[in-house]
Amino acid sequence: MDLLSAVGTVTKRRPDYYGQAETLAKKTGSQEALEERMLKESKALVKGLRDKQLKWSEYERSLMDKTLVSALAAVYLGAKDSKPREKMETAWPTIVGDMLPPLVKFMSETETYLKDGTLRVGDDTLEFEEIPEDVMPDSFLSDDDPQLRGDKEATQGRAQGKTWPSLAGRVARYIATATFSFFALGSFMIAQQVGNKQMRRVAKHDKRTCPDCKNYGEMGWQPIGTLPMPGKGCRCYDRCRCFIEYS
Ligand SMILES: [Zn+2]
Ligand SMILES: [Zn+2]
Repeated sequence: MDLLSAVGTVTKRRPDYYGQAETLAKKTGSQEALEERMLKESKALVKGLRDKQLKWSEYERSLMDKTLVSALAAVYLGAKDSKPREKMETAWPTIVGDMLPPLVKFMSETETYLKDGTLRVGDDTLEFEEIPEDVMPDSFLSDDDPQLRGDKEATQGRAQGKTWPSLAGRVARYIATATFSFFALGSFMIAQQVGNKQMRRVAKHDKRTCPDCKNYGEMGWQPIGTLPMPGKGCRCYDRCRCFIEYS
C-alpha cells in the first residue's frame, strides 16, 4: 500500500475510528493500561500473520487501524473530561502525519521480506529514523518468548530466531508505546485551553534518560508550545517517558 492510498483509506474510516477509540479509552481507563493492552495486541497480530490466520491485506489493515485507534484513544485519555471527542478530532492531522508515513514504509519493507522468505526485520529495516533496538521494554522482546518463538526449523536461516519477536517489537512501537506521546498531546491541549503560559519537560532520572531529554529538563520553564512532546526531538523516541508540567 502506498502512502496516498493509505491516507485515502483511513480518511474514509475516520468516523469509525473516533467511535472505536472512545470505546477503547473507556475500557482501558489509563494510558498505562492502554499501552499494556496494545503490547499484547502487537504479539497477537504478529502471531496471526506468522501462523497464517491473517492474510497480508488483513494484517496491514488491522495494523493501520490499531495504530490510529490507539493514538486517538491516548489523546482521549489525555484530554480527560475536557471535551475529549473534540480533542481527538483536533489531533487527527497530527496523528496521521506522524504515524502513517513511517508505518506505510515499515509495512512495505515487511512485505518485501516476507515475500522473499528472508524476513529480517530488526537487521536493516529502520523506521522512525535511526532507532536502536534497545528502545523496547526489556521484558517485551525476549528471544525465548514462548508465544512467538516458533519452532527451530521455522526460524532457521533467518535472523537467529529473533525474527517474529522482533517484528512484534516493531509493531508495538506503533500501536503501544507511541500512546505515551499522544496522551501527552491530549494533556497539552487542555493546558492550552485553560490558559497555561508555561511548560517544562521533566526527565525521568534513570540511566536510560538520553542526553536530549536531560537537556530539555535543564531548560526548565519555557513558553507553552515551545518544547517538543515526549518522544519528539529526543533520541529515545517512543521510549521517552518525560513528563510535561504546565503553569
Ligand atoms: Zn530522551
Ligand atoms: Zn524523554
